[in-house]
Amino acid sequence: MGVKPQKYLFVASLLKFIPQKRLKKRVNWQEADNFYICRMSEYLEQDIKFLPGVGPQRAELLKKELKIFTFNDLLYYFPYKYIDRTKFYKISEVTNNMPYIQLKGIIVRFETIGEGARQRLIAHFRDESGVMELLWFQGIKWVKANIKPNVPYVVFGKPTVFSGKLNMVHPELEPAENKPITTGVFQAFYNTTEKMKQKFLTSKTLNKFQFNLSALIEGKIYETLPPGLISRIKVMSLPLALRQVHFPENPNLLKAAIFRLKFEELFYIQLKILSLKHKREGSFKGFVFSQVGYNLNTFYSSHLPFELTNAQKKVIKEIRKDMGSGKQMNRLLQGDVGSGKTLVALMTALIAFDNGYQVSLMAPTEILAIQHYNSIKKMTDGLGIKIALLTGSTRVARRRIIHEQLEDGSLQLLIGTHALIEDKVIFQKLGLVIVDEQHRFGVAQRAKLWKKNEFIPPHVLVMTATPIPRTLAMTVYGDLDVSVIDELPPGRKPIQTLHYYENRRKQVYEFIRNQVEAGRQVYVVYPLIKESEKLDLKNVENGYELLKQVFSRYSISMVHGKMKPAEKDAEMNLFKEGKTQIMVATTVIEVGVDVPNASVMIIESAERFGLSQLHQLRGRVGRGAEQSYCLLMSAYKISNESRKRLETMVRTNDGFEIAEVDMQLRGPGDLEGTQQSGVGFSLKIANLGRDGEILQHARNQASDVLDDDPKLEKQKNQILVYHLLKMKNTEFNWSSIS
Ligand code: ADP
Ligand code: MG
Repeated sequence: MGVKPQKYLFVASLLKFIPQKRLKKRVNWQEADNFYICRMSEYLEQDIKFLPGVGPQRAELLKKELKIFTFNDLLYYFPYKYIDRTKFYKISEVTNNMPYIQLKGIIVRFETIGEGARQRLIAHFRDESGVMELLWFQGIKWVKANIKPNVPYVVFGKPTVFSGKLNMVHPELEPAENKPITTGVFQAFYNTTEKMKQKFLTSKTLNKFQFNLSALIEGKIYETLPPGLISRIKVMSLPLALRQVHFPENPNLLKAAIFRLKFEELFYIQLKILSLKHKREGSFKGFVFSQVGYNLNTFYSSHLPFELTNAQKKVIKEIRKDMGSGKQMNRLLQGDVGSGKTLVALMTALIAFDNGYQVSLMAPTEILAIQHYNSIKKMTDGLGIKIALLTGSTRVARRRIIHEQLEDGSLQLLIGTHALIEDKVIFQKLGLVIVDEQHRFGVAQRAKLWKKNEFIPPHVLVMTATPIPRTLAMTVYGDLDVSVIDELPPGRKPIQTLHYYENRRKQVYEFIRNQVEAGRQVYVVYPLIKESEKLDLKNVENGYELLKQVFSRYSISMVHGKMKPAEKDAEMNLFKEGKTQIMVATTVIEVGVDVPNASVMIIESAERFGLSQLHQLRGRVGRGAEQSYCLLMSAYKISNESRKRLETMVRTNDGFEIAEVDMQLRGPGDLEGTQQSGVGFSLKIANLGRDGEILQHARNQASDVLDDDPKLEKQKNQILVYHLLKMKNTEFNWSSIS
């Protein structure tokens, strides 16, 4: 090849921001004859403006709107759908339930109906078999300026029925004489944005760019998986897959191409996660908690207020095994709301005390921290454990004492919020960190906490009440060991969930009255609208005033985010002690609050809530022995997605099932837990909602590779090392931390 690999190393390191030293050290370039990868990556890392047909202005748009900066970014910008370009339907054949279809004909005339925001544009579209309406509610000006009547067009769209007539809403139009670039029957379609459309940068344009790019890189794309792996799992080669995904020749090749690209994407993520896990397990020692002593034994024999569930026993066993193994524990404890995670946390802490270590327990809110503090204090009464609470509102003088006692080791358990992470907090012998409701904590925050021990990191138990679909857990928490509490304490009756429209409000009030008369307590929750905190407050306050009128004989509490912590706590406590019967609140009460006598949860404007949030809220009731209810109030007109959410809530109490539906509806990127956990969820082609099988396959393969070559030192695996290093570091920082 004539040029020294060194030079390419340098270029590659510049381009990918990988320290050159690190690349050199990890990749054995003398033996591995794959430095061409660098050459290729140099080529593909060119600014997208240099691609024929793009130029500086469109490059700016691509960068801004689609984050396509380089040739490579474009190559990996995949179509979202394909249309069979050989198949044209006749208007007379069109029915309501068809998928995306293609028609050919002319627009006879345009017609504008309505005024202002309700304005719509109708195009009367005709082919030899009949007439059909095309409809626009937006971009009307643009359509009128750019689409001409009496010229043949190809129309793509999904037929629907609007005001009793068959039509297509916001179809895509293409002059009929424009021949698409295809190599087979399918044409690829790419997502674009409004801004791009205004500048005529359409799916079609992207198609052309892809075509230009494919010509340039013909024969220059190299494999990213080791040959052995490729033949073992029988996947399509990368060059072919990249070609087929943009310009498919037939359905089978397309399918194989998509599989190959999805596999590769998931495989590298799993390889990264699993190799980090291997590395961590190999290099970090953990404190050995070998004793079970006074604290745990006494607690177990004389303080435990009830029998542990089998699930709790199983999980505690798993934790004990971890903490006694000499390795650092990194365990995720999943358990639905009300499954009794707090008790597990406490017993885990008791083991640490028995071995002479300190423990910190972090909660996401002050209310929760206080609640943990109170209930743990009560449960451990008489054991002589020194516990302190540290939150944002802890006074300076008190804070100073806590700091001292942590440093001299006399304080055993510190419970608190983010305040725990402040640099001044130094532990003498921190052996265990428990994080409750993990998804509220940012990765960086947790990282700080781990660093509180210089040499040996403490054991880590992360608790979450947001059940995570299996595929997501494998990815987001792929390097953690997982324990699941899959059983609720006995005697709980499943919560009955009902969906009511506004017109049944009277009955709902009647129901509240009956429940309160029977001695129960009731939550009424109003939605949180992020964009308008003022409006939220108004909602809650109006609701409060209204309920005060309707239920003038009862006492009502109110809690919302704008209150001072002390006020909030005072109100919460009134409700907890049964002095108020109704609690009006925003979602601040979502997490963890425990009032067993509260048996009714009314959720106002339930259509505005996400599924996991609804489930969390519902979990506030059903904690006592009484039958509990969750009433979802909604407007009459709600979107299909909202309806699906409410139906799911009515159908099931199973948090895992709800999490699966949530992921199907929203896509994994939006799920709680992914954003906060710091995963730059940037899957380009795989979909965790649908590709569970491929993910499992990829994980198994990655695991096999590491079993065979744990440190990836074999020559055949150098290609993997190279691509692992290339993966942007920021994307995966979380996994070395969690
Ligand atoms: P979560 O998992 O949502 O944090 P908690 O730890 O708050 O659940 O427990 C919910 C309620 O169940 C608490 O009132 C707790 O005292 C009670 N509880 C926990 N474990 C058991 C058990 N084994 N038997 C009966 N009640 C239990
Ligand atoms: Mg809890």
